[in-house]
Amino acid sequence: MDVYLSPDQLELRAEVRAFLDENYPPERILQMETDEEYPDDFYRECAERGWTGIPVPVEHGGRDGSVLDLCVFVEEVGKTSISLSTLYITGTIFGSHALHICGSTEQADRYLPAIVAGEKRFALAMSEPGAGSDFAGMEATAERVDGGWRLNGVKGPISGAERAEIIITAARTSTHPGQPRRNGITLFLVENPAPGLSFEVRKFPAMKALMVDNVHYDDVVVGDDAVLGEVDEGWLNLAKLMDPERLANAAQAIGVAQAAIDDGVAYARSREQYGGPISRFQAISHPLAEAQAEVAAARLLVYAAAHKRDIEGACPMEVSMAKMLANNVAGRATSAALQVAGAAGWERDSHFLRRNIEVRGCELGGGTSQIQRNIISHYMGLR
Ligand SMILES: Cc1cc2nc3c(=O)[nH]c(=O)nc-3n(C[C@H](O)[C@H](O)[C@H](O)COP(=O)(O)OP(=O)(O)OC[C@H]3O[C@@H](n4cnc5c(N)ncnc54)[C@H](O)[C@@H]3O)c2cc1C
Repeated sequence: MDVYLSPDQLELRAEVRAFLDENYPPERILQMETDEEYPDDFYRECAERGWTGIPVPVEHGGRDGSVLDLCVFVEEVGKTSISLSTLYITGTIFGSHALHICGSTEQADRYLPAIVAGEKRFALAMSEPGAGSDFAGMEATAERVDGGWRLNGVKGPISGAERAEIIITAARTSTHPGQPRRNGITLFLVENPAPGLSFEVRKFPAMKALMVDNVHYDDVVVGDDAVLGEVDEGWLNLAKLMDPERLANAAQAIGVAQAAIDDGVAYARSREQYGGPISRFQAISHPLAEAQAEVAAARLLVYAAAHKRDIEGACPMEVSMAKMLANNVAGRATSAALQVAGAAGWERDSHFLRRNIEVRGCELGGGTSQIQRNIISHYMGLR
């Protein structure tokens, strides 16, 4: 079923799998999540292996990889841990794609080689406690001051913000009564730490190693050179950034789902009840078989959407279909696998439970499935 993947992509997948199996076995992931140990080593090792350079152009030291390459990478990492895959997505993909879409030459020269070297990790701060799905309703502001801008407000929840060196921050720079609220939003490259910038960890039940934060901006001052793209045009640039973000999200959900199925199969074959393995019960094997077929189909849709994005450019309908389907399927697959494991699956330290919770969070990030359905409906001419 790897019809979309090139020999190089298959090789990348095998390389990543071998690295993760050796260095991040399930017990290490459990310990990282329990101790809330930030995966610094993982990020450094990604840089050493050239993986932080995948989305970066060759002229800045990267590999000039495709969105499909990135999907293959994060799917494999997601099989091991969503904290690790999300760190890669936010740290590497958001920054490099945003700079590619709307960064100046000077910003690209300053940050892209540092992404490749693993020295600069990014976070993307669009959401606010009061503006999630409807993020055009954001209230964070950036006011002009001499030589720059002063930011105030609260963004969140934001993945990996506290440990990111640069937080791409969307803030309102002007209001236009009578016009759509998406007008007047500007993106800023906010360097962390900075006076007035502080973090409050959200108490989410998964991704505890990476940490998801609310970010407080109290008179944070940035220079004019921190403006990313045109002033007041942030919405347009965020819209362009959504395709790779959502595809990476979908790919990691597929990875989590496949890992849950694989663990479910192993458990069903080894757990004995009524004198033999529970895998012989159709009530056990059929949900896993159905989940496997659904995951295979969703994976193909993710790869196809990524391929289309690489060849043709923006394709929001295909991207939303891929994200919605991948997350729906992942929810069903992790739930089926948890059921196979019975009480063992429901233990606090169970990987079945962890994955079931991970895909719930994944579904929310990058726009919920309802929002993806709204987008698909829009392109179908329904709304
Ligand atoms: C683990 C995690 C990590 C995240 N990381 C980031 C990040 O790095 N950067 C960032 O900017 N944001 C991030 N987010 C925020 C995420 O994008 C929002 O949670 C998401 O957009 C939904 O917003 P909300 O939670 O405020 O829900 P709300 O917008 O309040 O929605 C509540 C419910 O109403 C539904 N709903 C709302 N509007 C509609 C509508 N028009 N039609 C149908 N249903 C609707 C939603 O689907 C949802 O079920 C993260 C969230 C999570 C959980």
